[in-house]
Amino acid sequence: MPNLSATATALITGASSGIGAVYAERLAARGHDLLLVARNRQRLEALAAGLMTKYGVNVEVLSADLGEPADLAQVEQRLRSDEAIGVLVNNAGIALHGTLADTKPEHIDALVALNIVAVTRLASAAAMRFSNTGRGTIINIASVVALAPEMFNAVYSASKAYVLSLSQTLHGELKDKGVQVQVVLPGVTRTEIFERSGLDVTQIDPQMVMEVGEMVDAALSGLDQKELVTIPSLPQAMDWQAYIKARDALGPNLSRSSAAARYK
Ligand code: NAP
Repeated sequence: MPNLSATATALITGASSGIGAVYAERLAARGHDLLLVARNRQRLEALAAGLMTKYGVNVEVLSADLGEPADLAQVEQRLRSDEAIGVLVNNAGIALHGTLADTKPEHIDALVALNIVAVTRLASAAAMRFSNTGRGTIINIASVVALAPEMFNAVYSASKAYVLSLSQTLHGELKDKGVQVQVVLPGVTRTEIFERSGLDVTQIDPQMVMEVGEMVDAALSGLDQKELVTIPSLPQAMDWQAYIKARDALGPNLSRSSAAARYK
Protein backbone atom coordinates (compact mmCIF):
# COMPACT_ATOMS: atom_id res chain seq x y z
CA MET A 1 0.00 0.00 0.00
CA PRO A 2 1.39 3.44 -0.90
CA ASN A 3 2.11 5.29 2.33
CA LEU A 4 3.37 8.61 1.01
CA SER A 5 1.00 11.42 1.86
CA ALA A 6 -0.42 12.31 -1.55
CA THR A 7 -0.74 15.92 -0.50
CA ALA A 8 2.98 16.31 0.12
CA THR A 9 5.20 18.03 -2.42
CA ALA A 10 8.22 15.93 -3.42
CA LEU A 11 11.59 17.63 -3.85
CA ILE A 12 13.66 15.54 -6.27
CA THR A 13 17.33 16.31 -6.90
CA GLY A 14 18.88 15.29 -10.19
CA ALA A 15 15.45 15.29 -11.78
CA SER A 16 16.57 16.38 -15.25
CA SER A 17 17.48 12.85 -16.40
CA GLY A 18 17.74 9.17 -15.52
CA ILE A 19 16.49 7.90 -12.18
CA GLY A 20 15.43 11.35 -10.92
CA ALA A 21 13.30 12.04 -14.00
CA VAL A 22 11.52 8.70 -13.57
CA TYR A 23 10.87 9.41 -9.87
CA ALA A 24 9.35 12.71 -11.02
CA GLU A 25 7.03 10.90 -13.43
CA ARG A 26 6.01 8.19 -10.97
CA LEU A 27 5.40 10.58 -8.07
CA ALA A 28 3.39 12.93 -10.31
CA ALA A 29 1.31 9.90 -11.33
CA ARG A 30 0.65 9.29 -7.62
CA GLY A 31 -0.64 12.86 -7.33
CA HIS A 32 2.32 14.64 -5.77
CA ASP A 33 3.19 18.20 -6.58
CA LEU A 34 6.87 18.39 -7.40
CA LEU A 35 9.89 20.62 -6.93
CA LEU A 36 12.50 19.54 -9.46
CA VAL A 37 16.16 20.38 -8.86
CA ALA A 38 19.17 20.03 -11.19
CA ARG A 39 21.46 22.34 -13.16
CA ASN A 40 19.83 22.07 -16.59
CA ARG A 41 16.82 24.41 -16.37
CA GLN A 42 15.64 23.73 -19.92
CA ARG A 43 15.36 19.99 -19.36
CA LEU A 44 13.62 20.52 -16.02
CA GLU A 45 11.11 22.90 -17.59
CA ALA A 46 10.34 20.50 -20.43
CA LEU A 47 9.77 17.68 -17.94
CA ALA A 48 7.66 19.93 -15.70
CA ALA A 49 5.43 21.06 -18.57
CA GLY A 50 4.78 17.45 -19.65
CA LEU A 51 3.98 16.28 -16.11
CA MET A 52 1.64 19.18 -15.38
CA THR A 53 -0.29 18.50 -18.58
CA LYS A 54 -0.42 14.75 -18.13
CA TYR A 55 -1.11 14.49 -14.40
CA GLY A 56 -2.59 17.88 -13.46
CA VAL A 57 -0.10 18.36 -10.62
CA ASN A 58 1.85 21.51 -9.87
CA VAL A 59 5.53 21.26 -10.81
CA GLU A 60 8.10 23.90 -9.91
CA VAL A 61 11.63 24.00 -11.26
CA LEU A 62 14.67 25.10 -9.27
CA SER A 63 17.90 25.27 -11.21
CA ALA A 64 20.82 24.70 -8.83
CA ASP A 65 24.33 23.30 -8.90
CA LEU A 66 24.35 21.30 -5.68
CA GLY A 67 28.13 21.15 -5.77
CA GLU A 68 28.19 24.93 -5.25
CA PRO A 69 27.77 26.02 -1.61
CA ALA A 70 25.49 29.00 -2.40
CA ASP A 71 23.12 26.92 -4.56
CA LEU A 72 23.10 24.09 -2.04
CA ALA A 73 22.26 26.54 0.76
CA GLN A 74 19.32 27.84 -1.28
CA VAL A 75 17.82 24.35 -1.73
CA GLU A 76 18.55 23.48 1.89
CA GLN A 77 16.77 26.64 3.04
CA ARG A 78 13.77 25.80 0.88
CA LEU A 79 13.58 22.36 2.52
CA ARG A 80 13.81 23.89 5.99
CA SER A 81 11.11 26.48 5.38
CA ASP A 82 8.58 25.12 2.85
CA GLU A 83 5.95 23.22 4.82
CA ALA A 84 4.37 21.80 1.68
CA ILE A 85 7.44 19.61 1.07
CA GLY A 86 6.98 16.18 2.64
CA VAL A 87 9.18 13.97 0.44
CA LEU A 88 12.87 14.32 -0.37
CA VAL A 89 14.36 12.17 -3.14
CA ASN A 90 18.07 12.71 -2.57
CA ASN A 91 19.17 11.43 -5.96
CA ALA A 92 21.61 13.75 -7.76
CA GLY A 93 24.98 12.09 -8.12
CA ILE A 94 27.96 11.66 -10.41
CA ALA A 95 30.31 8.75 -11.04
CA LEU A 96 34.03 8.41 -11.74
CA HIS A 97 36.10 5.65 -13.21
CA GLY A 98 39.74 4.67 -13.01
CA THR A 99 42.05 4.20 -10.04
CA LEU A 100 42.33 6.60 -7.13
CA ALA A 101 45.94 7.33 -8.05
CA ASP A 102 44.84 8.45 -11.51
CA THR A 103 41.87 10.54 -10.39
CA LYS A 104 42.20 14.31 -10.67
CA PRO A 105 41.79 16.23 -7.38
CA GLU A 106 39.04 18.43 -8.83
CA HIS A 107 37.05 15.36 -9.84
CA ILE A 108 37.37 13.94 -6.33
CA ASP A 109 36.20 17.26 -4.87
CA ALA A 110 33.21 17.47 -7.24
CA LEU A 111 32.06 13.93 -6.42
CA VAL A 112 32.43 14.38 -2.67
CA ALA A 113 30.62 17.75 -2.82
CA LEU A 114 27.62 16.27 -4.66
CA ASN A 115 27.42 12.62 -3.56
CA ILE A 116 28.32 13.23 0.09
CA VAL A 117 28.10 16.87 1.20
CA ALA A 118 24.91 17.82 -0.66
CA VAL A 119 23.16 14.54 0.20
CA THR A 120 24.01 14.98 3.88
CA ARG A 121 23.01 18.63 4.09
CA LEU A 122 19.68 18.03 2.35
CA ALA A 123 18.93 14.93 4.45
CA SER A 124 19.70 16.94 7.58
CA ALA A 125 17.41 19.81 6.54
CA ALA A 126 14.60 17.36 5.73
CA ALA A 127 15.15 15.44 8.99
CA MET A 128 14.86 18.66 10.97
CA ARG A 129 11.61 19.83 9.41
CA PHE A 130 9.94 16.46 8.90
CA SER A 131 10.59 15.45 12.51
CA ASN A 132 9.13 18.78 13.70
CA THR A 133 5.94 18.16 11.73
CA GLY A 134 5.88 14.44 12.63
CA ARG A 135 5.70 13.14 9.06
CA GLY A 136 7.73 12.91 5.89
CA THR A 137 9.75 10.60 3.70
CA ILE A 138 13.46 10.70 2.86
CA ILE A 139 14.65 8.54 -0.03
CA ASN A 140 18.43 8.41 -0.48
CA ILE A 141 19.88 6.89 -3.65
CA ALA A 142 23.02 4.86 -2.90
CA SER A 143 24.25 1.94 -5.06
CA VAL A 144 25.04 -1.75 -4.78
CA VAL A 145 28.72 -0.78 -4.90
CA ALA A 146 28.20 0.28 -1.27
CA LEU A 147 28.28 -3.50 -0.65
CA ALA A 148 30.77 -4.42 -3.38
CA PRO A 149 33.38 -1.65 -3.41
CA GLU A 150 35.95 -3.71 -5.29
CA MET A 151 33.69 -3.70 -8.36
CA PHE A 152 34.05 0.00 -9.18
CA ASN A 153 35.82 3.30 -8.63
CA ALA A 154 37.04 3.89 -5.06
CA VAL A 155 35.66 7.40 -4.50
CA TYR A 156 32.26 6.61 -6.02
CA SER A 157 31.89 3.32 -4.09
CA ALA A 158 32.96 4.95 -0.83
CA SER A 159 30.48 7.80 -1.37
CA LYS A 160 27.68 5.26 -1.77
CA ALA A 161 28.79 3.30 1.33
CA TYR A 162 28.55 6.66 3.11
CA VAL A 163 24.96 7.14 1.89
CA LEU A 164 24.02 3.64 3.10
CA SER A 165 25.58 4.25 6.51
CA LEU A 166 24.03 7.72 6.81
CA SER A 167 20.60 6.32 6.00
CA GLN A 168 20.86 3.45 8.48
CA THR A 169 21.73 5.83 11.31
CA LEU A 170 19.13 8.39 10.20
CA HIS A 171 16.43 5.70 10.23
CA GLY A 172 17.25 5.00 13.89
CA GLU A 173 17.00 8.70 14.69
CA LEU A 174 13.69 9.28 12.90
CA LYS A 175 11.70 6.05 13.11
CA ASP A 176 9.80 7.14 16.23
CA LYS A 177 9.15 10.61 14.85
CA GLY A 178 6.83 9.68 12.01
CA VAL A 179 9.52 10.03 9.35
CA GLN A 180 10.25 7.19 6.93
CA VAL A 181 13.78 6.73 5.61
CA GLN A 182 14.61 4.50 2.65
CA VAL A 183 17.96 3.93 0.99
CA VAL A 184 17.90 2.45 -2.51
CA LEU A 185 20.82 0.42 -3.83
CA PRO A 186 20.43 0.16 -7.61
CA GLY A 187 22.67 -2.10 -9.63
CA VAL A 188 23.70 -1.00 -13.10
CA THR A 189 20.79 1.04 -14.46
CA ARG A 190 20.61 2.39 -18.01
CA THR A 191 20.95 6.18 -17.64
CA GLU A 192 23.22 8.97 -18.80
CA ILE A 193 25.54 8.50 -15.83
CA PHE A 194 27.79 6.26 -17.89
CA GLU A 195 28.40 8.61 -20.79
CA ARG A 196 28.71 11.53 -18.38
CA SER A 197 31.54 9.76 -16.55
CA GLY A 198 33.26 8.45 -19.68
CA LEU A 199 32.02 4.85 -19.47
CA ASP A 200 30.18 2.80 -22.07
CA VAL A 201 27.17 0.90 -20.70
CA THR A 202 27.12 -1.29 -23.83
CA GLN A 203 30.39 -2.84 -22.58
CA ILE A 204 28.59 -4.17 -19.49
CA ASP A 205 26.95 -7.62 -19.57
CA PRO A 206 23.31 -6.87 -20.52
CA GLN A 207 22.20 -9.39 -17.87
CA MET A 208 23.46 -6.90 -15.29
CA VAL A 209 21.73 -3.81 -16.69
CA MET A 210 18.21 -2.83 -15.54
CA GLU A 211 15.96 -0.37 -17.34
CA VAL A 212 15.43 2.75 -15.30
CA GLY A 213 11.62 2.49 -15.14
CA GLU A 214 11.78 -1.02 -13.70
CA MET A 215 14.38 0.08 -11.14
CA VAL A 216 12.32 3.03 -9.86
CA ASP A 217 9.09 1.00 -9.77
CA ALA A 218 10.83 -1.65 -7.67
CA ALA A 219 12.27 1.04 -5.37
CA LEU A 220 8.80 2.55 -4.88
CA SER A 221 7.39 -0.91 -4.17
CA GLY A 222 10.11 -1.29 -1.50
CA LEU A 223 9.10 2.09 -0.09
CA ASP A 224 5.44 1.05 0.04
CA GLN A 225 6.55 -2.11 1.89
CA LYS A 226 8.33 0.18 4.39
CA GLU A 227 11.78 -1.22 3.64
CA LEU A 228 14.72 0.72 5.01
CA VAL A 229 17.11 -0.81 2.46
CA THR A 230 15.87 -1.67 -1.02
CA ILE A 231 18.06 -3.61 -3.46
CA PRO A 232 15.88 -3.78 -6.58
CA SER A 233 17.66 -6.69 -8.25
CA LEU A 234 18.27 -8.91 -5.20
CA PRO A 235 16.03 -11.99 -5.71
CA GLN A 236 15.95 -13.16 -2.08
CA ALA A 237 15.28 -10.61 0.67
CA MET A 238 16.57 -13.20 3.15
CA ASP A 239 20.10 -12.81 1.72
CA TRP A 240 20.12 -9.18 2.89
CA GLN A 241 18.67 -10.20 6.26
CA ALA A 242 21.46 -12.81 6.65
CA TYR A 243 24.03 -10.09 5.93
CA ILE A 244 22.56 -7.84 8.63
CA LYS A 245 22.43 -10.79 11.04
CA ALA A 246 26.13 -11.51 10.44
CA ARG A 247 26.94 -7.84 11.00
CA ASP A 248 24.87 -7.73 14.19
CA ALA A 249 26.70 -10.79 15.51
CA LEU A 250 29.92 -8.73 15.50
CA GLY A 251 28.24 -6.06 17.65
CA PRO A 252 28.99 -7.23 21.21
CA ASN A 253 32.68 -7.70 20.38
CA LEU A 254 33.45 -4.54 18.43
CA SER A 255 34.55 -2.51 21.45
CA ARG A 256 36.12 -4.23 24.46
CA SER A 257 38.55 -3.34 27.20
CA SER A 258 41.25 -5.72 25.95
CA ALA A 259 42.68 -6.70 22.58
CA ALA A 260 41.88 -10.08 21.05
CA ALA A 261 44.19 -12.95 22.03
CA ARG A 262 45.67 -13.17 18.51
CA TYR A 263 47.12 -9.65 18.88
CA LYS A 264 48.92 -10.33 22.15
P1 NAP B 1 22.11 10.69 -14.62
O1 NAP B 1 21.12 10.30 -15.65
O2 NAP B 1 23.44 11.16 -15.04
O3 NAP B 1 21.41 11.77 -13.69
C1 NAP B 1 22.12 12.51 -12.74
C2 NAP B 1 21.27 13.70 -12.33
O4 NAP B 1 22.02 14.48 -11.37
C3 NAP B 1 20.94 14.62 -13.50
O5 NAP B 1 19.62 15.08 -13.34
C4 NAP B 1 21.92 15.77 -13.34
O6 NAP B 1 21.33 16.93 -13.89
C5 NAP B 1 22.04 15.83 -11.83
N1 NAP B 1 23.28 16.47 -11.40
C6 NAP B 1 24.55 16.14 -11.75
N2 NAP B 1 25.41 17.00 -11.21
C7 NAP B 1 24.68 17.89 -10.49
C8 NAP B 1 24.99 19.03 -9.71
N3 NAP B 1 26.26 19.43 -9.55
N4 NAP B 1 23.98 19.72 -9.12
C9 NAP B 1 22.69 19.33 -9.30
N5 NAP B 1 22.33 18.27 -10.03
C10 NAP B 1 23.31 17.56 -10.62
O7 NAP B 1 22.40 9.49 -13.63
P2 NAP B 1 21.46 8.50 -12.80
O8 NAP B 1 21.96 7.14 -13.09
O9 NAP B 1 20.03 8.79 -12.96
O10 NAP B 1 21.94 8.84 -11.32
C11 NAP B 1 21.06 9.19 -10.28
C12 NAP B 1 21.61 8.61 -8.98
O11 NAP B 1 21.57 7.20 -9.05
C13 NAP B 1 23.05 8.99 -8.68
O12 NAP B 1 23.18 9.29 -7.29
C14 NAP B 1 23.81 7.72 -9.00
O13 NAP B 1 25.01 7.61 -8.29
C15 NAP B 1 22.79 6.67 -8.60
N6 NAP B 1 23.01 5.34 -9.17
C16 NAP B 1 23.00 5.16 -10.52
C17 NAP B 1 23.24 3.88 -11.02
C18 NAP B 1 23.25 3.60 -12.50
O14 NAP B 1 23.75 2.53 -12.90
N7 NAP B 1 22.73 4.52 -13.33
C19 NAP B 1 23.48 2.81 -10.15
C20 NAP B 1 23.48 3.05 -8.80
C21 NAP B 1 23.23 4.30 -8.31
P3 NAP B 1 22.07 18.23 -14.46
O15 NAP B 1 23.18 17.78 -15.35
O16 NAP B 1 20.94 18.94 -15.14
O17 NAP B 1 22.54 18.98 -13.24
